[in-house]
Amino acid sequence: MTAPAQPFYFPAPRAQKYCSQCSHPISMRIPPDDNRLRAVCEHCGAVHYQNPRNVVGVLPIWQNKVLLCRRAIEPRHGKWTLPAGFMELGETTAQGAMRETQEEAGAQIELGPLYTVIDVPYAEQVHFFYLAKVLSEDLFPGPESLEAAFFSLDDIPWNDLAFRTVTTTLEHYVRDAEKGLFPIHHYDIPIPFSDKAG
Ligand SMILES: [Zn+2]
Repeated sequence: MTAPAQPFYFPAPRAQKYCSQCSHPISMRIPPDDNRLRAVCEHCGAVHYQNPRNVVGVLPIWQNKVLLCRRAIEPRHGKWTLPAGFMELGETTAQGAMRETQEEAGAQIELGPLYTVIDVPYAEQVHFFYLAKVLSEDLFPGPESLEAAFFSLDDIPWNDLAFRTVTTTLEHYVRDAEKGLFPIHHYDIPIPFSDKAG
């Protein structure tokens, strides 16, 4: 008898080998009246289309300090990030952002307004970050974080941040904090920096 396989998590593949409708092998081609390469089943005609994934997160503030988590997982193991992750099916962006904060930092927060919306077309993602007020300095980082800590805006570890959407969101925050106004920012990151992590 074989032992049950150890579970492992990964985003469902963008390209699949077999048709999800009839299980025949699929091929990549542009269907008639379409303009994009798609996974097409020549057997049953199914065209499998793909869409961007949403990443939801929070910029949590405690007494003018920002809460960051140091990643215990790849990609960017050991780098600092705002609490954020892939949105789950059946939740809202706000619910997902709060869930990620709970999972990665164990922080109690009061969610504020949406702050950045960032299109990352090369990574096939859209990132959403909410402002939030941290309600207690007690942190209980989960298994995805090596540690969680508060940083004053002068001490943000700019060279050790995990993702460009985190860097640019924090850059906006530092600039806005000088004026005391935090409007929503919508922009895109069109060029890959070093890999597809955003
Ligand atoms: Zn098929």
